[in-house]
Amino acid sequence: MSENTDLIIVGGGISGASLLYTVAKFTDIDDVTLIEKEREIAAINSDRTNNSQTLHFGDIETNYTLEKAEEVKEGAELLAGYLEGTDPDREMHSKRSKMVLGVGDEEVAKLEERYHDNGFGDLFPKLREIGREEIQELEPKVVEGREPGTELKALQTPDGYVVDYGAVAQSFVDAAREEEGVGVHLGTAVENVDEGRDGFTVETDDGDFEADAVVVAAGSHSLQFAKQMGYGEHMSLLPVAGSFFLADDLLNGKVYTLQMKKLPFAAVHGDADVHDQGVTRFGPTAKLVPALERGELSTVSDFADVFGFSPASVLSYVNILSDRILFPYVVRNLVYDLPEVGKRAFLPNVQKVVPTVDVDDIERAKGYGGVRPQIVNTETKELDMGEAKITGDGILFNITPSPGASTALKNAMTDVQTVLDFFDGDHEFDEDAFREATIENFPRVDDGDDGDDGDNAETDAADADEADEADEADAEDEVEGDAADDDSDDRVPAEADD
Ligand SMILES: Cc1cc2nc3c(=O)[nH]c(=O)nc-3n(C[C@H](O)[C@H](O)[C@H](O)COP(=O)(O)OP(=O)(O)OC[C@H]3O[C@@H](n4cnc5c(N)ncnc54)[C@H](O)[C@@H]3O)c2cc1C
Repeated sequence: MSENTDLIIVGGGISGASLLYTVAKFTDIDDVTLIEKEREIAAINSDRTNNSQTLHFGDIETNYTLEKAEEVKEGAELLAGYLEGTDPDREMHSKRSKMVLGVGDEEVAKLEERYHDNGFGDLFPKLREIGREEIQELEPKVVEGREPGTELKALQTPDGYVVDYGAVAQSFVDAAREEEGVGVHLGTAVENVDEGRDGFTVETDDGDFEADAVVVAAGSHSLQFAKQMGYGEHMSLLPVAGSFFLADDLLNGKVYTLQMKKLPFAAVHGDADVHDQGVTRFGPTAKLVPALERGELSTVSDFADVFGFSPASVLSYVNILSDRILFPYVVRNLVYDLPEVGKRAFLPNVQKVVPTVDVDDIERAKGYGGVRPQIVNTETKELDMGEAKITGDGILFNITPSPGASTALKNAMTDVQTVLDFFDGDHEFDEDAFREATIENFPRVDDGDDGDDGDNAETDAADADEADEADEADAEDEVEGDAADDDSDDRVPAEADD
C-alpha cells in the first residue's frame, strides 16, 4: 500500500523545511509530506556546524554584484523578519556587528568605490563606513598589532544576523506540523522518483508514496535525482568542501575580508559562533572532493552519477581547474585539512583578520563543515555560481550552494508559485500573510531601528548613532545616485559565498 499526498518535498534541510512551512501555513494545499533520509531535520549542510551561520544580505559580500545583492537582500530580510517575529529570546539566532574590512590604500579605495559609486551605500541604509578608531571599538583584535600607518576602513552594519539554520529549519517543521495534512517522515531515504500518467511515485526504503507534485530539495542530491529523470543534462557539479578553524574569543561579530580577485570562492572570514560568542570560527576553506556529502563515502558513487563521465563533463572540469589562478588556490586548499601542517598553512588567512594570532591559538574544527554543490555548466564549460532550479512537469529540483540558507524563504516563495501552477490554479497562496509573518518584522531605518544588536555590549556604543548616520549617508548618496548603478572594473561576477 502506498501513501497518497498532494505534494512531496524530498529533503529536510533549510530549503525543504522552508517550503513545508510556506505551503502548510500559507496555502490551501490539503496534504504535504516531507521525506528526509536522516533521523533529524537539517543534519547535512544546514546544520549549525557545517556552514558559516551568516545571513547574507549582500552588504558586506564583496564577491556580489549590485544585482546579486538586490536579489539576496529580499531573501535575507524575509528570514530576518521571521527571526525577529518568532525568536525574541534569540535561541535560533544572534545579532551582532558585521563588517567587511579593507586594509591598505588599494582595498580601502575599493570599499569606498563600492559604497559610494557602485550603489551599495544606497541599497543598504544601515551600512556605514567606519575608520580605524571605530573598528577598534567594535573589534579590538582586528586593529591590535597592525602598523599604525596602514590605512584601515570597514563597511559595517548592525544587521549581523548569526543564524543556526538547523534550529530555524526545525522551527519551520514544528510550525508546519501545527496544520492538518502535514506529514514528516524522518530516517526515510528516497530511492527513486517515477513519473507516471497521473502523478509521481516516490519510492523510499520505507515504502512508496504517491503525489501529484514533487519538489526535490535534497542539496547536491537534487541534481542526481534530476539526471535520473532526464533533466539537467547540461549540468554537472563541482563539490567544494569547506572546513573551519576555531579560536577563543577573538571577535565580537563577523569580520569579512575583501574578495580575492578572480577567485570564485569567498575570502576567509572570522565569525563569532551563534550560540557562544566566546568561540570564533575562521573559514571556510575550499577543497574539491569527489563526494556529495562530507565524510560520506557512499556519496562518492552519487558524485559519479552527477559527473556522468561524458566528454563535456570532463572538458568542463579541465577548463575550470586549469585556470591559472584557481588551480594553485585549489592545491593550497588541499593542504589545510592536513594535521599540523594544515593550520600553519592556514594561519596567514586568519592573520589577515586578527594580526596577532599565533598558530597555537587556532585548531581545526573537527567534524565541522559541509560541501557546496557548485554548478558546472557543461555547455559553456564554466562554473555557474549561485543556486540552480530545474523545473519539469509537476516536479522541481533545487540545487543550493551558498547563499542557499539565507535565501531559503525567498526560494520557498518562488517555489510555491511554481507548485500552484502545477495544480492549475486550484489552490492559492496568501502572500500577504506570509509577508506579515516574515519580512514585515524586519527592522528598517525608517521605522526608527537604531541598529542596536542587543547581543553585545561592545557594539552597542557604536550603534547608538546608527540611524542618524545612516540617514545622512542616504542623503549624500541620493546626490550620487546616478553613478550608483555604474559597473566597475573591479566588480567580479556573482560568485560563491559562505
Ligand atoms: C562551508 C559552507 C559554508 C556555508 N555558509 C553559508 C552561510 O554562511 N550562509 C548561507 O546562507 N549559506 C551558507 N552555506 C550554504 C548553505 O549551507 C546551503 O545553501 C544550505 O544549507 C542548503 O540547504 P538545503 O536544505 O538546500 O540542503 P541541505 O541542508 O544539504 O539539505 C538537503 C537534505 O536532503 C536530504 N536528502 C538528500 N538525499 C536524500 C534522499 N535520497 N532521501 C531523502 N532525503 C535526502 C539530506 O539528508 C539533507 O537533509 C554554506 C555551505 C557550506 C558548505
